[in-house]
Amino acid sequence: MKQIDKAAPVMITGATGYVAGWIVKKLLDEGFTVHAPVRDLENPDKVKYLNQLAEAAPGTIKYFKADLLDEGSYTEAMQGCEWVFHTASPFTIEVRDPQKELVDPAKLGTLNILNQANQISSVKRVVLTSSCAAIYGDNADLKETPSGIFTEAMWNHSSSLTHQPYSYSKRVAEMEAWEVADKQDRWDLITINPSLVIGPGIHPFASSESFNIVKQFGDGRMKAGAPRLGLGAVDVRDVADAHIQAAFSPEAEGRYIVSAHNTDLLELGRSLLDKYGNDYPLPRKALPKWLVWLVGPLVNKTLTRKVIKLNIDLPWKADNSKGINALGLSYRPLKTSMEEMFQQLIDHNLITRAQ
Ligand code: NAP
Repeated sequence: MKQIDKAAPVMITGATGYVAGWIVKKLLDEGFTVHAPVRDLENPDKVKYLNQLAEAAPGTIKYFKADLLDEGSYTEAMQGCEWVFHTASPFTIEVRDPQKELVDPAKLGTLNILNQANQISSVKRVVLTSSCAAIYGDNADLKETPSGIFTEAMWNHSSSLTHQPYSYSKRVAEMEAWEVADKQDRWDLITINPSLVIGPGIHPFASSESFNIVKQFGDGRMKAGAPRLGLGAVDVRDVADAHIQAAFSPEAEGRYIVSAHNTDLLELGRSLLDKYGNDYPLPRKALPKWLVWLVGPLVNKTLTRKVIKLNIDLPWKADNSKGINALGLSYRPLKTSMEEMFQQLIDHNLITRAQ
């Protein structure tokens, strides 16, 4: 990391979450004072892992009470901060009311943070955790790209409140962020756009959908096979590095796709076979699209026929060269990330073994 003034505190939203955990660790290890606004200050389990990090590091962590939907609640936490990391946003797929549960916290939360940054003169840079979901909606969108690959120049135009609402929430929030950022020039905005994040969490009980996705490889739900659902994947520690590099590299600008592997759901499961194949009911073969089309919606209500049609057996490909060249990012192998995450889930009894 370049020489920077560590006297000023750094604020990070969503510190209790999966992605933020490793960013907090890196900041504490560098000796920063981390301001962590959290919504559930009274729950000691939420901050237990963060406290353990702080005890072992030169930096310190201070908590504040704030909620994405509570306007002005980040005022105290942001005071004196030069860098703001905004990671908080629900990453969950099964929702009843997508507007209330996904879009409102993503969009209004982003506005809340950025309007606050406009009022606090110390802020120089905001790093927003966006997503590849803000870039594409369905794998079928790949066919419409000029060079057959998703890039930072693209936006998701295919998601809506009724189709891939999580992806819609990320697109709406990031667009809103650029609109606010472009109206001023005191602080700059950088977005990190990761694909599916995998790898061991600081907080193995975080609410992230990443844990649910990996758990299903071990609990028998994919015993008969997994669909070839094309996706990108990246280790959570590499995503944290990307945030740190983006924050502290003066020349960083714009959006960064942070994705290590162009892969699919079956390959994620199969990467576990060498180590866990004898003990867990891992997927070994591809489920045919027609079968997923027939039974998928009955077992998983987010797997609608439209989602299946536009995503299964269709490849996913993103260009990660901007982050590699400009921020010096490097990526762990898929197998390492998957094995370490799966092992963590086993160690915390989060995978119910069903042969
Ligand atoms: P996570 O573990 O569920 O973390 C979400 C965080 O947001 C938690 O700290 C949560 O706080 C906080 N939060 C949610 N609603 C809030 C509210 N109303 N007020 C204040 N805080 C609130 O999920 P994650 O995977 O780490 O996701 C973090 C970010 O990464 C999100 O922006 C997500 O879109 C992005 N991302 C994730 C992935 C992935 O594969 N995991 C991929 C691309 C982008 P509580 O602990 O209080 O619930």
